[in-house]
Amino acid sequence: MELQSKIVAGLERISEVFKSLLWEKAKVYGISPIQIQILLFVSNHSSNLCNVSYLAKEFNLTKPTISDAVRVLLKKGLLEKDFSPSDNRRYNVQLSSGGVQLVGELSDYASPVLQILEHIDEEEMKQIYGTLSRLIYQLNQKGIIQVQRSCFGCRYYKGDKKGTHFCSLLDKKLAGPEIRLDCPEFESKHVES
Ligand code: SF4
Repeated sequence: MELQSKIVAGLERISEVFKSLLWEKAKVYGISPIQIQILLFVSNHSSNLCNVSYLAKEFNLTKPTISDAVRVLLKKGLLEKDFSPSDNRRYNVQLSSGGVQLVGELSDYASPVLQILEHIDEEEMKQIYGTLSRLIYQLNQKGIIQVQRSCFGCRYYKGDKKGTHFCSLLDKKLAGPEIRLDCPEFESKHVES
């Protein structure tokens, strides 16, 4: 097997691990893996990203699938609607106090993976992170990952072939590990259609 195919097989196995870790939490708390992912996303992203359309892109799922999951979370009192002041048919969602409490129980779902990473040498970790961030960016460029909030797709990012990274918003050079995959200040360098 070629090395590329082995890496793809490895990534596939790791993706299964995340699914299985989410399912373990899902069974304990009686909610589905996608509902957990929505709660975790809402807990650490700004309100303007927390609506059905954006969540569907974020998780590469259809709007009806996300809409059903959000409806259940609203019904369970884990999410609340935050209506737009200009259009009362449009709303974002936010965590209720029950949602905040549950997120506290769910947010460690990936800890078995984190514990393994803690034992990996720092240089190796930097290389893994660099490779992963480029892979994610290129998958976004091909339209396979729809949502992009990383430096490489950001209008404030400047890089060169020597591997220098610079953020013109923060006005500083970014070392490899400082490249962000999910930046709150991200603005797309492409005009959104
Ligand atoms: S604003 Fe954020 S995403 Fe954009 S270049 Fe700076 S650190 Fe990266």
